[in-house]
Amino acid sequence: MAGEPQADCLFCKIVAGEVPATVVRETETTVAFRDINPQAPTHVLVIPKLHHPDAAALAAAAPEVAADVLREAGRVAEGEGAESYRVVFNTGSGAGQTVFHAHAHVLAGRGLQWPPG
Ligand code: 5GP
Ligand code: ZN
Repeated sequence: MAGEPQADCLFCKIVAGEVPATVVRETETTVAFRDINPQAPTHVLVIPKLHHPDAAALAAAAPEVAADVLREAGRVAEGEGAESYRVVFNTGSGAGQTVFHAHAHVLAGRGLQWPPG
C-alpha cells in the first residue's frame, strides 16, 4: 500500500535503522542524512519516513509531508551555514534517480552551476 515500508527499499531500511546512516536531523515525518557519495561539501538527503517512489507521488499522497521535506531541506542548509544551496529531486532513471523512495538532495558549499548538468 502507498506509504507502507517496502522490504527491498534502501531508504526504508535507513528509516527503520536497519542500514546505518549519518543522520543530521530527524522529525516525526522526515530523516536527513549525509549522502554516502557526496557531490559537494554539503550533500544531505532529506527523505520522508513514508515510502513513496518520487517527490510528485509524495506530494500527491501526503502534501503535508512533502512540505515537511522542503522545510527540512532549508533547515539542513541553515544548520550547515549555507546561505545558498540547491535542492534537487531526481525523478526517473533518465534523470539519475537510483533510489525509488522520494528524497531531496541538499547541495551546498561550492559554486553551483546554472543550468545544472
Ligand atoms: P538518486 O540517484 O536516486 O537521486 O539519489 C540516491 C542517492 O543515494 C545517491 O546520491 C547515492 O550516493 C545515495 N546513496 C546510495 N546508497 C546510499 C547509502 O547506503 N547510504 C547513504 N547515506 N546514501 C546512499
Ligand atoms: Zn522506501
